[in-house]
Amino acid sequence: MNAERPRILSGARASSPRIHIGNYEGAVKPWIDLQDDHEMYCMIADYHGLTTLGATPPDLGYWSRECAKDFVACGLDPEKCAIFIQSRVPQHAELHLILSMFTGLGKLERVPTFKEKKDNLGSDQQVSYGLLGYPVLQSADILLYRPFGVPVGKDQAAHLELSREIGRSFNSAYGVDYFPDFYTIVSTDESRSTLPGLDMRKMSKSYDNCIYINETADETAKKIMSAFTTPSKMKLSDPGIPEGCAVCQYLRLYSPNWESQWNEDRQGLRGCVQNKRELIEILNEFLRPMRERRAQIDDAEIERILADGTERATDFAAQTMREVRQIMRLA
Ligand code: ADP
Repeated sequence: MNAERPRILSGARASSPRIHIGNYEGAVKPWIDLQDDHEMYCMIADYHGLTTLGATPPDLGYWSRECAKDFVACGLDPEKCAIFIQSRVPQHAELHLILSMFTGLGKLERVPTFKEKKDNLGSDQQVSYGLLGYPVLQSADILLYRPFGVPVGKDQAAHLELSREIGRSFNSAYGVDYFPDFYTIVSTDESRSTLPGLDMRKMSKSYDNCIYINETADETAKKIMSAFTTPSKMKLSDPGIPEGCAVCQYLRLYSPNWESQWNEDRQGLRGCVQNKRELIEILNEFLRPMRERRAQIDDAEIERILADGTERATDFAAQTMREVRQIMRLA
């Protein structure tokens, strides 16, 4: 890792044992694009997975390791990027505690995702202190690496301002310029930053409308054959509306001939089945190398990658905590 390169912290909440092509296009691909020219730390946030536990706590360790396998299969290079699990680097919890002293309760209560998550809790579930403090932990995750920038999906960009404010409160309390006003790196490619699901809602595992990296080509084919197209296009010669059709949206991303496919669809010169067959071929071909690589990564390999990533992340995080303690004149 070249220490002269701008430092980037990126992360994903451990919320499932596998990632879908929406996660790939909106989050993982942008990290891969940054890894050659930046000093990258890529964190799988398992503590954040604890903030909304359902009735049965999941095996977060398994989820995190499986997710890490998907990241590597997609092209995140462990040589260039320190891939690690948040809870293995204890400095995240330590800085979280310290930053909580610099965070007003009102600010946390006003965070829109807090209100949303609180409203989504079942009547038998309590609002935990951890759920309210989620943005403080996220701030610690980021500021620990004193990054130049943080790549996030559109949905997360608003949270980062709060992290900058928390860093500034610390700086001003001690009269230092320690935590940086890091940049938010958001993709400008709209078609990738909110990938539609098979039903044209946002692709999300909570909607069960996803194509997963780690599924078989047959599973992908079956899903595409039943994907949402243009409801008013009953027969081949009816005009299609590609903007509202999931199959056409994916053709746009993955097919080199998407413009002529869209034109023919619009003019009723091609049918949905033809679109689907062509998409199945192209998309499965696109995913094939990732799936082949995924099948080769065993538990021992991912454990080696995570151990190395943890060591590199801990080296940096421990240095930050030494400096924070000095600034705060803690023992
Ligand atoms: P899900 O909605 O399936 O639970 P997550 O919230 O775990 O997905 O997503 C993690 C990250 O992946 C998000 O912050 C976002 O950057 C990206 N992402 C998720 N869904 C999509 C999507 N449909 N299109 C583009 N990016 C997405």
